Amino acid sequence: MRWVFVGASTIASQYMLGAVRAQEGGDVAWVASGSAQHGADWASAHNVPKSTTDLAEALADESCDAVYISSTNEKHLPQAMAAIAAGKHVLCEKPLAMSVADAADMVKAAEAAGVTFATNHHLRCSGTHRAMQALIAEGKIGKVLSLRIFHAVHLPPHLQGWRINDATAGGGVIPDITVHDADVARFLLGEDPQRVVAQMAASGMGEGVEDSAMSVWTMPSGAMVMSHESFTHPFAGSGLEVHGTEGSIFAKGVMTQEPVGDVELVTAAGRTAVEVSRHNLYEQGLEDFYSAVAGTGRAAADGPDGVKSLAVAMAVRDAAQTGQAVDVDYGDLT
Ligand code: NDP
Repeated sequence: MRWVFVGASTIASQYMLGAVRAQEGGDVAWVASGSAQHGADWASAHNVPKSTTDLAEALADESCDAVYISSTNEKHLPQAMAAIAAGKHVLCEKPLAMSVADAADMVKAAEAAGVTFATNHHLRCSGTHRAMQALIAEGKIGKVLSLRIFHAVHLPPHLQGWRINDATAGGGVIPDITVHDADVARFLLGEDPQRVVAQMAASGMGEGVEDSAMSVWTMPSGAMVMSHESFTHPFAGSGLEVHGTEGSIFAKGVMTQEPVGDVELVTAAGRTAVEVSRHNLYEQGLEDFYSAVAGTGRAAADGPDGVKSLAVAMAVRDAAQTGQAVDVDYGDLT
């Protein structure tokens, strides 16, 4: 599959170019950027043959089948709609859009056009998260009572741009990290958060947007989820705990882009280290995307998954802004 990359971004250069090139026949033919100079520099630094500021020019290339979108968040909607209209399969970065309605429109447009549309939620592609999901699905911890997500990290200096100071580009820790945590909770527990309470703060980095959030979510099964996201915590580490009637899972260092971290299962039988695969998260996401395009499997996180993670994040922000409990509005997705 030949790709058009939309957005000459950090994630594209650090992870996604390599992930595409790791697939059989995976090739990036174009980068489309808002800046001619930046796009050309980026293309030349990464051996991408063509760059353009005119997305339509790249989309007109019939030798390309797929588009990966990693521009800033407010651009995802028009760029995805253009790619879908051109008949390309689309892998779009999270958050899919600035509103749930816009994200749902993207998914519906892709369905109507008959193209594959997926969301780049990498955490559910990791060996650690997949191992935890299997333990839960196999009933190893009994009925799940609660999930605690520790995702307060330190945003590195090279990413401290629009994320911390530009609400119009989709900045803030809630659209950036809470969306990932919403996807993790849905993936692990197999159900959609129903109601949230939350608080948010600017604790040293955020200028006009929140850089920290804590929230509590109720799940239809009655399980409770506690989620903490931040850009300002250099030494907190990340992790996840799932507690059930028959056991608990403790995962350390697993809310990350790398295939690292440890998972332990604790039951009446004692404490055991869980074996996990150490495959590349983004390559796995691409592999699953290729299966979805081929009709042999599903995308790791598909379009509705991206809409739902955004819906949870938007509910968290609403709850934090209003001080009220908020029911998650998934629109017409069930
Ligand atoms: P960057 O800040 O690196 O890039 C975003 C955009 O900024 C680029 O698309 C580019 O615009 C512009 N830009 C960047 N550097 C320059 C420059 N030197 N000169 C001019 N313009 C520049 O963003 P990220 O890579 O951190 O994030 C991009 C998207 O990916 C976001 O939607 C984010 O939420 C998502 N993301 C997802 C991750 C995941 O694991 N799934 C991880 C990290 C990010 P242009 O589009 O015009 O080229």
